Amino acid sequence: MDSNLSQFKSVSPRPKVIIFTSILHLAVLLVFLPHTFSWSAVGVAVFLHWITIGLGISFGFHRLAAHRSLQTPKWLEYFLILCGTLALQGGVLGWVGYHRLHHLYSDRQGDPHNSNQGFWWSHINWLMHSVPMRTELSRFTKDIANDSFYRFCHRYYVELQIALAVILYFLGGWSFVIWGIFVRLFVGLHSTMFVNSACHMLGYRTHDSQDQSTNCWWVALLTFGEGWHNNHHAFQYSARHGLQWWEIDMTWITIRLLQFLRLATNVKTIDQK
Ligand SMILES: [Zn+2]
Ligand SMILES: [Zn+2]
Repeated sequence: MDSNLSQFKSVSPRPKVIIFTSILHLAVLLVFLPHTFSWSAVGVAVFLHWITIGLGISFGFHRLAAHRSLQTPKWLEYFLILCGTLALQGGVLGWVGYHRLHHLYSDRQGDPHNSNQGFWWSHINWLMHSVPMRTELSRFTKDIANDSFYRFCHRYYVELQIALAVILYFLGGWSFVIWGIFVRLFVGLHSTMFVNSACHMLGYRTHDSQDQSTNCWWVALLTFGEGWHNNHHAFQYSARHGLQWWEIDMTWITIRLLQFLRLATNVKTIDQK
């Protein structure tokens, strides 16, 4: 563990990510400017949080692309990957690569956000450093790396966010931009990061999953079901994360609906690998 710790402490910072993250956190303070609040702007933020984190990150990036827990028609897969790209959590190839590494080495050396490095490391500091396994990511994304749509989203995720901001500006002025971009990105980023930090430290464990993953109800609420993370580590292939009736999993409900409409097939669950 000690050698692991020193390895991480010697990693170099990523100035661009640090500057971007700082600007985002400062930009959220714009909500305190007069005349920037409106309920329609809050509605836009909530709607886009569902689109980008619920459909995009939870469904698209995580359960569909990273784990291949189900299949959808290509047009729907690409729509979900575009939604996840608009969460501005880096390119899809990097996101999937880091996540597959996390499962391979959960809470051990090689896990990019190893929770043994402390809360802040697993929450956001790992992103702001050039972790050693960054150079190995391409080995873990060979199944999607040659797909031209994935490559497009991976390459242009910043430009796509700017395009969304311009659309919001023309629809509702700065109020829509502040709530629909800055506040929504801030909430979406920390919600997702809580899965890596809080869901490896707080909450309860139902399964002995050979790591420190936990189930955390408030993270599940923020992330459309991703907070049932101990269940997920125990059954990584399963498209369903909330396993008890009270473990509400909005992404699973969405998948069931699409299954009913025959738009989701080969859906894996805990008893059906
Ligand atoms: Zn996962
Ligand atoms: Zn985890």
